[in-house]
Amino acid sequence: MKEMMTLKGGWNVKYNYAVGPTGTRFFKALKGEAKIIAPKCPKCGLVMLPPRSFCERCFVPIDEWVEVGMEGTIQAFTVVPVKFESLPDPPYAIAYVLLDGAGTAMVNFVKNVDLSDLRKAAKKLAIGKRVRVVFEKKRKGTIHDFHYELLKP
Ligand SMILES: [Zn+2]
Repeated sequence: MKEMMTLKGGWNVKYNYAVGPTGTRFFKALKGEAKIIAPKCPKCGLVMLPPRSFCERCFVPIDEWVEVGMEGTIQAFTVVPVKFESLPDPPYAIAYVLLDGAGTAMVNFVKNVDLSDLRKAAKKLAIGKRVRVVFEKKRKGTIHDFHYELLKP
């Protein structure tokens, strides 16, 4: 067996991400109105979060938007135990949540979970558990303008 080498390296790339007209509309509603709005497909009726400019099933452009509910159901979750660049100090919980009225799930932090015991936390964050959207008081027009909280922590 040949000896394999590794070299230490790192990435620290700052950038501006163009969110386009669809992302702009979504983030402006978060910041200015504390609302979560989503595009609705004119053909199949799918309400998509995060918002897309085209239906992911029908491939038709979308110009109708609807407001979704401020509560939803966990579809998947994880607890992150390691540090990642530009993210909070671990541990923290994130979940894909199907908000009421939406047809696809959107990920964000779940902030009212005790993560000191990961087995207990996993039971609290189970698939099917209900959460609510909580908006920050000072919003900046980013996905961090809101987070989820368990209805029954
Ligand atoms: Zn469609």
